[in-house]
Amino acid sequence: MSIELVDDFIESNQQRYLTLSDDIWRYAELGYHEQQSAAAHIALLKSEGFRVHEGVAGIPTAFVAQAGSGGPVIAILGEFDALSGLSQESLALACCPSNEIANGNGHGCGHHLLGTAAHLAAVAVKDALERAGIEGTVRFYGCPAEEGGWGKTYMTRAGLFDDVSAAITWHPGVANSIMNMESLAVKQAYFRFKGVAAHAGASPHLGRSALDALELMNIGANFLREHMIPDARVHYAITDTGGIAPNVVQPNASALYMIRAPRNRDVNELYERVCNIARGAALMTDCQLEIEVHSACSNLLRNHTLNELMQAKLVELGAPDYTRQELEFADSMHRTTRAEEIEMAGRMLTAAWRDPKALFDRVDALDNDRPSRMHGSTDVGDVSWVTPTVQCMTACFAFGTSPHSWQWVAQGKSGVAHKGMVLAARTMAATALELFTNSLLLAAARTELHERLAREPYVCPIPEGVEPPLPRSA
Ligand SMILES: [Zn+2]
Repeated sequence: MSIELVDDFIESNQQRYLTLSDDIWRYAELGYHEQQSAAAHIALLKSEGFRVHEGVAGIPTAFVAQAGSGGPVIAILGEFDALSGLSQESLALACCPSNEIANGNGHGCGHHLLGTAAHLAAVAVKDALERAGIEGTVRFYGCPAEEGGWGKTYMTRAGLFDDVSAAITWHPGVANSIMNMESLAVKQAYFRFKGVAAHAGASPHLGRSALDALELMNIGANFLREHMIPDARVHYAITDTGGIAPNVVQPNASALYMIRAPRNRDVNELYERVCNIARGAALMTDCQLEIEVHSACSNLLRNHTLNELMQAKLVELGAPDYTRQELEFADSMHRTTRAEEIEMAGRMLTAAWRDPKALFDRVDALDNDRPSRMHGSTDVGDVSWVTPTVQCMTACFAFGTSPHSWQWVAQGKSGVAHKGMVLAARTMAATALELFTNSLLLAAARTELHERLAREPYVCPIPEGVEPPLPRSA
């Protein structure tokens, strides 16, 4: 199927989507708080003729927009959540908060680009299906709270991907490549200790310190590190210290733990060991313990068939050309990154990146046999267990820029970011269109997933009864 069928649409309609992306960069809303961002997507999708189901999976900012009818059903996944504390002036070469962003947040992972490119790809596919008279359904999934809230896992648990033939998405990055990687599964849980308050000077023997319990739990978890598999990760944030008064025996203390490992079953084993450490700490201090699962997501399953298809489209489209101004800005930004960051970015590629240029101006080769290991997590993981899923990455930032940094936010509205976003939309649309017309390829991708699931069936890592961690006002 010819790429021009979707490409012409994207070429002549892209300006509206660059504006949408820039608007969402400015809204910079945190996970499950993305009211303005979701509303902007939804309003545009309705005007484009999509049928939109809002508030799906019990999440006010989650939605599914659909066009066409019958099968196959191709899903294109979008995100739009920002990160706390990363407000940053656009195009600035130093760390400084932006006056444009009132809430102090920032798009440190580029999800404003992610959601908008996915949206644009879905509209281009809808247009192509209608013009060419191709049967099938295209869906744009508005997926909230990728950053630690794992919206897609809740959406998967709600069955929203059960009838999907294949799913396509991308992530903004520093290179043009297929995301041929394995991510870590993760489980997040609150550990809350309850003790007895007392005067810390006059009657400490009457008190039972929840803060002591929490400190002992953290020490236990830190001793656990030597005896867990090397790719596992355990992090925690203390969410309640029990107050600021040292002369009170703290009656409450809690922490949010993130436990990551290559597979769900590794995570579950490690989680049980962390729970035992917490129980031990409660016993030592004579405190009560409450454990509450917050959220979770699965490791990513790669699909070789879809990887090869998307790679072919990416190679056919090729890297964008850059203006002298874009190259100079990227060069300046590149100089704010450290050698270790450049080396780290190079590890995601199949061949070492020794070119001194600040912008990755080619398409990386695909080696399905040698995936890279990402020690982060993504809720695309759960989608990949229920439908064949593929992701690409395009160069939106100077090579070596780290995600979740001020530099990532500063470059989020640059010409390079816009070009990367448009390339991602073109690649996703071309990949989707091929799947609508090449039933053999789609069948091969589905067989590959089913063979994998025959060895290990999918079990949603979020237990039934655990609800999405929505803001209280939602
Ligand atoms: Zn991200």
